[in-house]
Amino acid sequence: MNESKIALKDVEMRFGDVVALHSTNLQIATGQTTVLIGPSGCGKSTVLRLIIGLLTPTSGAVEFEGEPISQNNILTLRRRMGYVIQDGGLFPHLTAAQNVTLIAKHLQTFQEDEIQAKLDELCEMTRFPKEGLARYAVELSGGQRQRVSLMRALALDPDVLLLDEPLGALDPMVRASLQTELKEIFNRLGKTVIIVTHDMAEAGYIGNSIVLMREGRVVQQGTLDDLREQPADKFVSEFITAQRSLVQL
Ligand code: ADP
Ligand code: MG
Repeated sequence: MNESKIALKDVEMRFGDVVALHSTNLQIATGQTTVLIGPSGCGKSTVLRLIIGLLTPTSGAVEFEGEPISQNNILTLRRRMGYVIQDGGLFPHLTAAQNVTLIAKHLQTFQEDEIQAKLDELCEMTRFPKEGLARYAVELSGGQRQRVSLMRALALDPDVLLLDEPLGALDPMVRASLQTELKEIFNRLGKTVIIVTHDMAEAGYIGNSIVLMREGRVVQQGTLDDLREQPADKFVSEFITAQRSLVQL
C-alpha cells in the first residue's frame, strides 16, 4: 500500500523565537518503517510530538488517515499510536509489568484475567524474559528496559508506533542485536512505524524510507541508496560520509 497514514501539511512549529520546524510537508506511508535522522536539535522529536498531539502546530495541520488532528479527536487517535519517548520513560516506582499495563488498566481495555495473557504475548513478541516482569526499571539491563518500553507502546495494539531514539543509550553489541529484532518485529507486525535515530547505518538497515533533517527542515526523503546516489545537496553527502560505519557498505 502506498497511501499515507500520516501527513504533515505545511506544518510549522515555533517556541517563541525558536523555529523548531520550518513549514514542512511530509508523508508517512502506511505499514512501512520511516526513519527520522539528522543532527541533534534538527527537530526530530518535535515531529513525533506533533504527530502524537503533545504539540499543536503554530501553523499547518497534521493529518491521520486524511483527517486533521485536533483537540476533538486527539484522545481517540492517541490510543491508536504507541510512543516510546527518548530514554524510555519508564516509571521507576513501578515494576516492568505495571509499566506495561498501566495505560491499558487505566482505560479498562482488558479484564483482569486478560492482562496476564497480554503480558505473555508481549514478552514473546519482544523476547523479554517473563521472570523480569516483577522487577523495577533499575533492576533491568538497558536492553531489557527498551523491551519494556516497547511492550508498553504495543500494549494497546496500536496501528502506529513512534520511537524516539530507542537504541540510543545501548552498548554496540546490544544495539546490534536489538536492531535485528526490531526490524523483524516491525516486518512481522506490519504497523506504521516512525523511528528516530542519529545513526545512518541503523536507518538504512531498519527503514523503508529515510527522512534526513537539518535545522528544522527536511533535506531529503528516500532510501539509503537514493540518499547516497542522488544526494539533494552537499549536507546529505557530508552527513553520510561522516558516518564511518557506512564506508564499508
Ligand atoms: P532533536 O530531537 O532533533 O534533537 P528537537 O525536536 O528536540 O530536536 O528540538 C528542535 C529544536 O527546538 C531545538 O532547537 C530545541 O532546542 C527546540 N525546542 C524543542 N522543544 C522545545 C520547547 N519545549 N521549548 C523551546 N524550545 C524547544
Ligand atoms: Mg530528540
